[in-house]
Amino acid sequence: MKTTGQDFDRRRPVELQARLDAARAPIKRILNRALLGREITEAEGRALFETTGPDAALDREAIYATADVLRARAKGDRVSFVVNRNINFTNICYMGCRFCGFAKRREEAGAEWLSPDQVVARAREAWDRGGTEVCIQGGLHPKMEGRYYRDLLRSIKTALPDMHIHAFSPFEIWYGARKSRMSYRDFLADLRDCGLGSMPGTAAEILDTEVRRTLTKNKLSAEAWVEIIRTAHGVGLPTTATIMYGHVDGPEHWAAHIALLRDIQRDTGGFTELVPLSFIHTDSPLYTQNPDQVRPGPTDEEIDLMHAVSRIMLAGFIDNIQVSWTKLGAERARQMLSRGVNDLGGTLMNESISRAAGSNHGQEITALELCEIIRSAGRIPMRRNTIYDTVDVYDDHDPEEIAPLVERAGSDPLDFLRMFPEVVQ
Ligand code: SF4
Repeated sequence: MKTTGQDFDRRRPVELQARLDAARAPIKRILNRALLGREITEAEGRALFETTGPDAALDREAIYATADVLRARAKGDRVSFVVNRNINFTNICYMGCRFCGFAKRREEAGAEWLSPDQVVARAREAWDRGGTEVCIQGGLHPKMEGRYYRDLLRSIKTALPDMHIHAFSPFEIWYGARKSRMSYRDFLADLRDCGLGSMPGTAAEILDTEVRRTLTKNKLSAEAWVEIIRTAHGVGLPTTATIMYGHVDGPEHWAAHIALLRDIQRDTGGFTELVPLSFIHTDSPLYTQNPDQVRPGPTDEEIDLMHAVSRIMLAGFIDNIQVSWTKLGAERARQMLSRGVNDLGGTLMNESISRAAGSNHGQEITALELCEIIRSAGRIPMRRNTIYDTVDVYDDHDPEEIAPLVERAGSDPLDFLRMFPEVVQ
């Protein structure tokens, strides 16, 4: 039987109550409403996001405790992950998004465009390593025909009929539909019929026109993103939801963005999870060309708050909050498990978008390593598929040990755990 907010409230943990009592009254009021299962408003979400700085330390502790309780109520002690492979079929793109460190011009060193056969070879390698999903995204190559997207899907499905294809951001759908002279609905329905299983809700950045003008010259408007996502949900394609934060944005944008995602979810039920994505500034032209006007990614407090407030604002709407280990690294990702997070995303095998922007958290964390991280936080690892069906629960056994696909040049991502041998099981 599902525990309701009221049921839970009668046996509220003592530690939670102590944290709430130590917070300022307006913050306590908002959190109490969330714990009773009520929807908090955009303005209340913004107030939670604004609890930064030393004076608000006790407010933040109450927010984190509330997020953790809502996480436990929705998802229990299991922390999920998916065994997947990232395949970026081209990095050639002339859209000129100013935050992007990934895109290259055709003549630049390192520019590549994989044929469908090359993508299939990578997908087969993932399948042979136990992968159930390929996550496929690419740049908007000027020479690409709209047909490329469907050819890619058909090639993969012919070779690997049971592989789940999670592919194409709303920006790619916008591009492919234009190139094919099709409506979003017809283009998406065709891709679904060719084997598309779900879509990443990337390219959302911040769904605010002014912010998007700075980030992407508003080439894919917030309205177009929303229309494509709603249309995808309408033709039966679930998507993830994302927010990229820590550049020219602030609490008012974050609260509005999450409230908008909640509104979409209320209508369609098509989001599987929210993935907060920290802006990686190191090799991003947006930052390197304007270091005085653009922030170098979110602060630690903002990262904690983003995961926790997302959990609180989306409770009962989007119950999977994922942390991106490619953006934060394994150690910070583990800390987010106490900030309302219940999912560690994918093993990825070949991460390249964050790496191109200057992230150095590696290309793959194996299933066994993800289990180590989860258990070290006192939680139970669970392998899932893309749409959150349970594949295996590692409560009394381990996943098969498989070496990373790409040999690691730097340090082991789990070195931080070895510093505390008592938490490694
Ligand atoms: S973010 Fe995507 S669309 Fe924008 S420049 Fe980079 S690859 Fe191109």
